[in-house]
Amino acid sequence: MTTPVLRLIDVKRTYHTGATDVPVLKGINLDLNPGELVGLVGPSGSGKSTLLHTAGLLEKPDSGEVILDGEDCLKLKDRERTLMRRTRLGFVYQFHHLLPEFNAIDNVAAPLYLSGVNRKEARDRAVDLLERMGLGHRLQHQPMTMSGGEQQRVAIARALANRPKVLIADEPTGNLDRETTASVFQQLINVGRTEGLAMLIATHNLELIQFMDHVVTLDDGRLTAFSDPLTSTPA
Ligand code: ADP
Ligand code: MG
Repeated sequence: MTTPVLRLIDVKRTYHTGATDVPVLKGINLDLNPGELVGLVGPSGSGKSTLLHTAGLLEKPDSGEVILDGEDCLKLKDRERTLMRRTRLGFVYQFHHLLPEFNAIDNVAAPLYLSGVNRKEARDRAVDLLERMGLGHRLQHQPMTMSGGEQQRVAIARALANRPKVLIADEPTGNLDRETTASVFQQLINVGRTEGLAMLIATHNLELIQFMDHVVTLDDGRLTAFSDPLTSTPA
């Protein structure tokens, strides 16, 4: 039997704003296996970003467990949990947050410089990832001189720089036009699959779900198996 690389067990989270309580995650259970691509869909405001931030160790839930690579992460000290996040996880967001003064290579290599990888090794890894994202001709370019799709490809390469086990992506193509979405998403999953990554990807773009191994819907704080309104037959 495969051991999941990431498990969420009965994860609950309520936001408290002023006098009101907003329960967003009401008991989330999710297993992500190595190499598996899971799509997360759900209406805007349903809690997809909250779920991804929790799974990605960026936010702590009120209760439940987040098991990453066999480690019960919520029991770890803050420093150890941060280390788990930096070494095991990669993140892609809707907006790329690239450093404007850095070229593509340095943007991708930056997380490696920070974690003490030597400069040559970091740059070699960055160049390899950028080439695999189809950006071999943009290595020295700064973000401002690249198209939206190219910028997002750089952000994807950066997310993979530390050789994560799990890639967490929150609307990774949400800011791109339809044609660019298709090619960037294809490249994301091709590189992710070659790296043997588990991927958890939130999207409201139902055209992308055909590429997922498995799709779950977040609705009213709980996950259910997704059924595609376009292909499912009425009862
Ligand atoms: P989604 O990504 O599916 O659009 P979010 O996780 O961003 O959903 O938000 C889920 C709900 O939680 C929304 O009602 C949102 O307003 C609320 N929410 C999100 N972040 C916060 C926060 N930091 N404080 C209070 N409420 C929040
Ligand atoms: Mg969101």
